[in-house]
Amino acid sequence: TGTLYLVPTPIGNLGDMTSRAVETLRTVAVIAAEDTRNTQKLLNHFDIATKQISFHEHNTQARIPELIAKLQAGEDIAQVSDAGMPSISDPGHELVNAAIAADIPVVPLPGPNAGLTALIASGLVPQPFLFYGFLPRKASEQRAALTELACQQATMIFYESPYRVVKTLGAMQAAFGDRQAVAARELTKLHEEFLRGRLSELQAMLADTARGEFVVMVAGAPAATPQPSTVPLAEQVAAQVASG
Ligand code: SAM
Repeated sequence: TGTLYLVPTPIGNLGDMTSRAVETLRTVAVIAAEDTRNTQKLLNHFDIATKQISFHEHNTQARIPELIAKLQAGEDIAQVSDAGMPSISDPGHELVNAAIAADIPVVPLPGPNAGLTALIASGLVPQPFLFYGFLPRKASEQRAALTELACQQATMIFYESPYRVVKTLGAMQAAFGDRQAVAARELTKLHEEFLRGRLSELQAMLADTARGEFVVMVAGAPAATPQPSTVPLAEQVAAQVASG
């Protein structure tokens, strides 16, 4: 059988394409791309002549049998999204599962990813972290999701569009309180910028200029410190037993 390669692509800076990614895209039989016109620009830049097939969120189910058949016939396939890691807030997961079910080797390549790139320069505690991706757009669903995250102690990483980022920061403040947060804008590009401050401060900073692509990171909830005098002894003992 062939191999399914998962190939990350730059999130704004073509210099971040790895030589292994170029070599893989060059040598596979076909590239399954989220947007073939977008990926064609990348292929042109690196002189890659491999043919493409579209694979995006609206044709995933229809395409999977076709791609699995090619793999079973011995063709290697590389899957790419528009930017960054496939499957990370992008198409890919269902194809990976179908390949695993069909006993087809799945080989991931390391490479660009907006969330981790943002996290390591944020100054927020890097682990544990929770990668959330995009929150629901609908206000009621978003509020419910944020309420559930309010006691999360891990640093949280979100993706958001420039059109909604200020509003979302406001919703986060309502759910979490005025926590420390960082917005990473235009990573790897000319106007890369890190905005650090409380959620209210970030809203003020971005009020009139929320252009570009954003990763929003929010500090986790402080570890709960029960007051020994107010916690019944039996519960204190149980908590100690539970924490070993
Ligand atoms: N697969 C990608 C990855 O591995 O990071 C994520 C794709 S998702 C559809 C696009 C979102 O990622 C954007 O809305 C933004 O939140 C974030 N993003 C992508 N590129 C970025 C960049 N250069 N700077 C900041 N955020 C970026």
